Amino acid sequence: MTTNSAPTTAITHIAQLVTNDPSLGEGPLGLIQDAAVVIDGDRIAWVGESSKAPATDNAVDAAGRAGLPGFVDSHSHLVFSGDRTAEFNARMSGRPYSAGGIRTTVAATRAATDEELHTNVARYLAEALRQGTTTQETKSGYGLTVEDEARALRIAAAHTDEVTFLGAHIVSPDYADDPAGYVDLVTGPMLDACAPHARWVDVFCEKGAFDGDQARAVLTAGKARGLTPRVHANQLGHGPGVQLAVELDAASADHCTHLTAADIDALAGSRTVATLLPGAEFSTRAEWPDARRLLDAGATVALSTDCNPGSSFTSSMPFCIALAVRDMGMTPDEAVWSATEGGARALRRTDVGRITPGARADLVLLDAPSHVHLAYRPGVPLVSAVWHKGVLI
Ligand SMILES: [Zn+2]
Repeated sequence: MTTNSAPTTAITHIAQLVTNDPSLGEGPLGLIQDAAVVIDGDRIAWVGESSKAPATDNAVDAAGRAGLPGFVDSHSHLVFSGDRTAEFNARMSGRPYSAGGIRTTVAATRAATDEELHTNVARYLAEALRQGTTTQETKSGYGLTVEDEARALRIAAAHTDEVTFLGAHIVSPDYADDPAGYVDLVTGPMLDACAPHARWVDVFCEKGAFDGDQARAVLTAGKARGLTPRVHANQLGHGPGVQLAVELDAASADHCTHLTAADIDALAGSRTVATLLPGAEFSTRAEWPDARRLLDAGATVALSTDCNPGSSFTSSMPFCIALAVRDMGMTPDEAVWSATEGGARALRRTDVGRITPGARADLVLLDAPSHVHLAYRPGVPLVSAVWHKGVLI
């Protein structure tokens, strides 16, 4: 079934395949037993039962392994330098730690060369890919000057299409006494320099970072420059972040740990995805977000790593799935959906997060007969093969 010059490949005898296309199989995950997938170039050409697979140029026998779409990690902070081992160690040892948190990473990132930052981003993207992540969003936010934020976005854009401008991560230490001046910088010259390199605009709307009015100013200015909002919202306490995200039709409200009933209703009545980041609660011993409440209300939920050197230094989507099932009230099926199709919705993508004809050929095989093993066997490196854009990694 060659439709162009690229050789076609059939992956057959997938014990159980998650397609996330209910028209192709059983339930919301569109499960197919003893499935096959045909890849043509960088696209999925055919999906169905192994016994009905069309002839192809090449064949791979999955030999009873489970298959699922590559993970879509819609929230990370990979453009950084430096290390916060001491801070983590102190926190986990119950000792006070007075160094500067994000400011420590800002200082190290500003001091790093472009080459060091490129090497770091490539390293963590490769680490994530080995664990099955085939779409990765990443942000600026450790530069906090016009030049350093624009540099971070240029570097991110060299490695991924999903790039987010987060100049409003914290008030720059250079503006400690003038937060309003910093918001003017972010919404003016910094946005001018950064918008050409980004798809999204984000803000940390939280006590100690940016209040509702400041966050609105940042997101509205970003929208006027063609960027779509996403918001760090309601991580450390109740606040206006979630409501603001819904009001501005943000693609996602990320964290959603402290939600009122009104926040949940707002999310459920919108197309703003609630992106939960359990690595952050794990790594800071914080209260878990209640995924069950969101799902029961009808909100769309995504899972993501929040990979960053301070509060969640994991690139592992399987780890986040296991945490979501164990501690956030999600079923294994819901967690796998949220780590694939949910992430795609948080990035407003229809070409990833699912295995359906026409989608990008991003596929993971597990050394296990079912996707449920991602939660059932936590910490075990089950990802045994990854196709990214049709190429076996
Ligand atoms: Zn974050």
